[in-house]
Amino acid sequence: MEPQLSSTRLICTLTGTTAQAMAEQMRQASVTGCDTVECRLDYLSPAPEPGDVAGILDAAGLDVIATCRPVREGGKFDGPEADRLAILQAASDAGADFIDVEVDVPADERPSGRIISSRHDFETCPHDLTELAAGLDASDAAVNKIAFAATNPAEALRAFDVIRDSSKPTLALAMGDAGLPSRILAGKFGAFGTFAALADGLGSAPGQPTVARLRDLYRWDAVNRETEIYGVIGCPVGHSMSPAIHNAAFDATGINGVYVPLLIEPGGENFNEFLDGVIRRPWLDWRGLSVTIPHKHNALDFVGAANCDPLAVRIGAVNTITISPDGQVRGDNTDYAAAIDALCDAMGISRDDLAGRRVAVLGAGGAGRAIVAALTHYKARTTIYNRTVSRGEALADEFGATACGLDAAESMQAEIVINCTPIGMHPHVDACPLERIPESVKVVFDTIYNPIATKLLTAAEQADCLTITGIDMFVNQAAAQFETWTGQDAPREVMRKVVMQHLEG
Ligand code: NAP
Repeated sequence: MEPQLSSTRLICTLTGTTAQAMAEQMRQASVTGCDTVECRLDYLSPAPEPGDVAGILDAAGLDVIATCRPVREGGKFDGPEADRLAILQAASDAGADFIDVEVDVPADERPSGRIISSRHDFETCPHDLTELAAGLDASDAAVNKIAFAATNPAEALRAFDVIRDSSKPTLALAMGDAGLPSRILAGKFGAFGTFAALADGLGSAPGQPTVARLRDLYRWDAVNRETEIYGVIGCPVGHSMSPAIHNAAFDATGINGVYVPLLIEPGGENFNEFLDGVIRRPWLDWRGLSVTIPHKHNALDFVGAANCDPLAVRIGAVNTITISPDGQVRGDNTDYAAAIDALCDAMGISRDDLAGRRVAVLGAGGAGRAIVAALTHYKARTTIYNRTVSRGEALADEFGATACGLDAAESMQAEIVINCTPIGMHPHVDACPLERIPESVKVVFDTIYNPIATKLLTAAEQADCLTITGIDMFVNQAAAQFETWTGQDAPREVMRKVVMQHLEG
């Protein structure tokens, strides 16, 4: 039977170094939910005899791509070229559905069979990518494959251009962490497939996710041509819980969306290059971006104050970008809203009821700044207690608050305390920003979410205070992003569960 070329394949790469290990991986792959395996025959040591290849490719009902990548193209086979091509011919004769043949193999030496014509660049995104892709497309191979190293997600977007411009089934993949979106989103653009590892450490190229992560975290089975794209921009971004939270929310609500991590190095130019790339390609259906450290100010600059929530402009940070189908962008800050709403919901009051209440904010960094801006906006009487007094004073001057050193916090007269320092955060769980809870305090909100019950919150509970955890703020800000983008109520309980699972795991 002719193998299917129309739907995007989830291809599990097998890198066993013995025939036995390869067979075991083949068995494991058949239960992962992938539909195709790529047997990396170049990983076998010693190299297989052509006569042994048929036994190795016995694939438990899955389609097989046979690859024997030479060292010159980033593979492990270092024997004579004639031996390598004989192995591939044997694979083809043994019934491999596809054989991967590098584009530089002369036409008269190429093994016969259904060929994936491939080109790899492990160093860079080739400056002549478009021409290279056009050359592959003009060959008589069944499938084109081009894989290149991406230094930023803007380059990863070029993989989608390659797929779009090809007249044949095409694999176009950006390698490295910055290239991950090209692997996750292959199905959206109708690529021939994407490669995934059986388990961490078993991949054959930088940035390859596992089959399980693609299916369970990145909604591989739900992504199709109509899927709308979202993501989180940050550096680092690998630790972010946001992909798990938002993808679970899409699952729970049946919204056809997928959310990917976007590793963008610091610098406004890197941020702008990616956003410009997204806006230039309306067919990506990119609808929203979360923005985290160090790009929140770059996001404000890109979107422009006129298109942002005025309080986000005052804070100087945009953490949520919404992109409309015609390329218009809007900037919001869900951090401040999340914190204020966590506080007000727990107290059973409206934002306007904060007016006149005494609030102590510990810390004057990014989180402190957003919270102080919001508190003063709603006319709370706000005092900032910060280790570096001058920094606290500068923030207080900007927003009409007062400021003291952190050591003066014990004598505060506030009703509400909000901790915006990392004191007490994992792994320093025995630290506490206050030695005792002052008499006047009735409500304690710790923005730290790991651990959930910080030492400060435990002390506050013992002092019969109302307590609010960083989880409430964290879930609120993700829910606010979801609602801004989709116009639907966020499945908060699902989101909270994902956060708790991550923290417990
Ligand atoms: P940041 O910009 O680095 O600011 C940290 C602040 O804490 C600064 O004011 C700093 O004082 C102070 N600080 C740091 N270490 C200290 C120490 N050992 N002793 C006394 N003061 C210290 O960080 P951030 O982004 O604002 O984050 C702060 C906290 O907010 C983190 O714990 C984070 O978990 C939490 N947060 C939670 C959420 C959520 O959704 N729940 C979101 C964002 C942040 P100096 O000015 O003297 O350096």
